[in-house]
Amino acid sequence: MAHQATEETIQLVKEIFRAYLREGNQRQTPERFMVLEEIYRSDGHFDADDLFFSMKNSGTRVSRATVYNTLDLLVECGLVQRQQFGKNQYYYERSYAYQQHDHLICRECGAVVEFCDPRILEIQKLMEQIHNFTVEAHSLHLFGSCNDKEACDHRKKNGDKIKNLTG
Ligand SMILES: [Zn+2]
Ligand SMILES: [Zn+2]
Repeated sequence: MAHQATEETIQLVKEIFRAYLREGNQRQTPERFMVLEEIYRSDGHFDADDLFFSMKNSGTRVSRATVYNTLDLLVECGLVQRQQFGKNQYYYERSYAYQQHDHLICRECGAVVEFCDPRILEIQKLMEQIHNFTVEAHSLHLFGSCNDKEACDHRKKNGDKIKNLTG
């Protein structure tokens, strides 16, 4: 699941974002597009500060406020998904041209594993039929702890927030 977006996808999401900003009479600043591009060039889950610092460290001049408000805009227009993994913190991930998946989350160290099982989609379809309902989105988080206690402790001690075990 974890692979970079293609150049084609990046161009496409920029177009979608541009149209969205234009429609809402929002400013189309280069910084906003840099935030979008950074997200689509990276993988997995991140929080707003992770994104801010990774852009800052790579020399991109963008303020924390811009990162935060661009994330809100991207969530609103559906290009980024916001996930809450139990605590008070939100994590984000790109959603366009990214395979539908669900999450296993370790409560000890915060590791996140993405998995994809088509049977979940089958359940969804069945529930739509039974309950005469249209499902537009779903979110499934399974909480627990890593069986590899050593790796889990290591991640916890190092304060690594989110580690994608598959990545
Ligand atoms: Zn995910
Ligand atoms: Zn763990």
